[in-house]
Amino acid sequence: MAYIISFVEAVKLQHLLLLQKLEMEIKSTERAIQKVKTQTEEVAKTLQEMKERRESLLKKMEEIQREMLNHRRLIEECRKKAKQAEERLNAVKKAEEYRALMKEKARHEDCVIKLRGSLKGLEEELKRLQEIKEDKRSLRELQELEEELSDLRYSYLRLEDRLKELEHGYRELRANTEQVLVEEYERLKRKYGLPFALPLDSFSACTNCGTRLPSALYSRLVGGQVVTCPTCGRLVYYEEAR
Ligand SMILES: [Zn+2]
Repeated sequence: MAYIISFVEAVKLQHLLLLQKLEMEIKSTERAIQKVKTQTEEVAKTLQEMKERRESLLKKMEEIQREMLNHRRLIEECRKKAKQAEERLNAVKKAEEYRALMKEKARHEDCVIKLRGSLKGLEEELKRLQEIKEDKRSLRELQELEEELSDLRYSYLRLEDRLKELEHGYRELRANTEQVLVEEYERLKRKYGLPFALPLDSFSACTNCGTRLPSALYSRLVGGQVVTCPTCGRLVYYEEAR
């Protein structure tokens, strides 16, 4: 089996590797952008829901406060009416009228008691909502989400810039690469996908399939030649430890 790729000289290999590296980086950057996008949407949605819950909480509190005000006003009114009935009691002459006024006074007093009871309920509900509103944990969570969202948006912008840079570099490199090499690149990519060229690992094995290369080939690799892996067919090359 012919292992040696004669037409891929070291320089050409560097060219192929660079194209491969750029294209793989483009793909991984695109994946990262997609991931950040999804995360951003999720965080934004959670944040929006939290804000909506908070807004409806504030609205509910305002409603209760208005209702409490209304209660106080009504209590004052009933109390005044009860007092008026009491004052009129002194002036009545007929027993019938007296009974009617007593009844009226009792009705107003009853109204005060009932309203006070319901006012107390409202005060307790307001206090409960106030505690939810000021809950430290949820406030912290809200703040953390805001920060996370802003971090994600920043990452997104940076990744977009990086992608543009990579795409530009890739286009430039392709334009400056011999047509025959570009075609070879495309052929290898179609056949094996990316990466089609891989360095040997420290046990002189193919990093794609794990096949150990015969030692006879190893010295050629070290000498800068490129061979195809006898098992998976990908290009393997020697990379000095950095
Ligand atoms: Zn292999």
